[in-house]
Amino acid sequence: MTKPYAEVIGDPIAHSKSPLIHRFWLGQLGIDADYRATRVAAGELAAYFADRAADPDWRGCNVTVPHKVATLDHVPDPGDVRGSIGAANTVFRTLDGLAATNTDAAGFLSPIADLDLAGKPVVVVGAGGAARAILFALSKVGVGPVTLLNRTPLKGAALLSTFGLKGQALPLTARLPPAALLVNASTLGMTGQPPLELDLLSLPADAIVYDIVYAPIETELLTRAHERGLDTIDGLDMLIGQAALAFELLFGQPAPRDHDEELRERLLA
Ligand code: NAP
Repeated sequence: MTKPYAEVIGDPIAHSKSPLIHRFWLGQLGIDADYRATRVAAGELAAYFADRAADPDWRGCNVTVPHKVATLDHVPDPGDVRGSIGAANTVFRTLDGLAATNTDAAGFLSPIADLDLAGKPVVVVGAGGAARAILFALSKVGVGPVTLLNRTPLKGAALLSTFGLKGQALPLTARLPPAALLVNASTLGMTGQPPLELDLLSLPADAIVYDIVYAPIETELLTRAHERGLDTIDGLDMLIGQAALAFELLFGQPAPRDHDEELRERLLA
């Protein structure tokens, strides 16, 4: 007998935390369904979606590197994520067929939903895929000037313009302006990558430092922010936030977020 399932697709995929998160919530809710990780090579993507669309047990999938953009060539995009964030991370079933969407922007905002960032200065480090989703999200909450620091400042300037954000793009060596929120959306600080070396002294005492890197969970940036007594948000908050939104699209029920502490412990084990 078969049962409903969803999956995360990518190449490579063995490192993905998504099965642990979604299986944890399925277990908490007593839903008899599975969530697995499936390696799909770039050339197999069209056949993958054709095959799964015909499988009534398949509820949809999360999409990770390298398929986040190419998925939009194979799945309808009713919310125009191609025109906004430019990449999809979730495919789910609707009454009209398959639909692609992106839960990264809302997942990023979930731990800062109570902050009033309207008109406040923000610093974002990075101009890759994650930064796109974050700048899109920040544009929606009407933040003040954005200072975008990136190894390649030209890429940062293009993103500020894409999302209609006021501010400037500077190299990573630039002095930090006073800001209400500093976000690291680059790979700097990840295991195996150089650390992100910023002087946090110019941040005000009530600034928040948000590092979306989650391997390791305590990056050097967060350690330095703690040393300065600043509030911090780590990458697991966004990871769990974007997964929760996808879970509801895939399995039709809200993720049980009152078990986040236990979930975090499992993710860190
Ligand atoms: P990406 O598209 O490859 O972008 C990488 C960014 O890091 C670019 O801005 C790049 O600068 C910069 N960078 C890379 N190597 C560098 C180096 N040696 N020196 C200086 N800058 C460097 O990656 P992504 O998909 O945006 O992911 C970025 C990070 O976010 C990863 O750690 C990923 O795991 C994490 N992430 C977390 C979540 C979550 O839910 N917590 C979600 C998505 C991503 P250039 O533009 O100059 O190349």
